[in-house]
Amino acid sequence: MSGESAPLDRAIILASLRDYVEQIRAEGLEGLPTSAAAQSRSRESRASRSARISATAPLPIPAAPAPTSADTSNALFEKYPRLAKTSDLPALREFIGDCDRCKLAPLRTNLVFGVGDPNAQLMFIGEAPGADEDARGEPFVGRAGQLLTDIIERGMGLSRAQVYICNVIKCRPPENRNPEPDEVASCEPFLFRQIELVQPQVIVALGAFAVQALLKVKTPISKLRGNWHEVRGVRMMPTFHPAYLLRNPADKRLVWSDIQLVMRELGMAPPNQRSRP
Ligand code: URA
Repeated sequence: MSGESAPLDRAIILASLRDYVEQIRAEGLEGLPTSAAAQSRSRESRASRSARISATAPLPIPAAPAPTSADTSNALFEKYPRLAKTSDLPALREFIGDCDRCKLAPLRTNLVFGVGDPNAQLMFIGEAPGADEDARGEPFVGRAGQLLTDIIERGMGLSRAQVYICNVIKCRPPENRNPEPDEVASCEPFLFRQIELVQPQVIVALGAFAVQALLKVKTPISKLRGNWHEVRGVRMMPTFHPAYLLRNPADKRLVWSDIQLVMRELGMAPPNQRSRP
């Protein structure tokens, strides 16, 4: 950054930050400083507020704030304004309720919310429930799930109860097709709130769909895996989906190398090589 452009950058960043603070205050976050101008602006209607925010949209976003504030993005608040008030995972599950927010609802047997330690340091995120998961109401319990369990237990020396496991989509798409954009849009705020509430140190995103949905990119998983990314302030390692590994067992070594990076990040001792899945 040149010395001449620094004051302009600062002004732009300040304007963006002011807008951001006003937005989250207007959405109900308490304890933020107020000014007369901000108070009068907070009385604006929701519609005029969004118009003002979109008018300032071209401004650069300030450097990523601390994870908790980064995670209260506008989209999360706007779709379900009271979602941010859910204080823990049971409250979030109750908020989701007997969900009928998308066209998958009438097709499901069970909504598959997530399982594991609500304070886990490590969170696995898959795509969507399959038939076994739909029947049992638990993520990753079919054949692919067994392989994930092996990775967790035999590979990492952890139990399923010590990590948190969930999916981008909470209901099974018919014939295991990929979730559609409207389904992702309905469901992903719940995933983002799950991430905020669990506050893992590391996320492992399983498979192209989950990784691309989380990062909002179309880059092939083969180019993304093995490198660290960030999702809502949390370090995220993409890797291949266990179902892909069932069809392509030779790539297990790549997943294993991704998992070793995760273990190093979590300060876990390298396991006995013979016990790898
Ligand atoms: N595949 C997924 O992505 N999630 C599951 O829960 C099961 C299979």
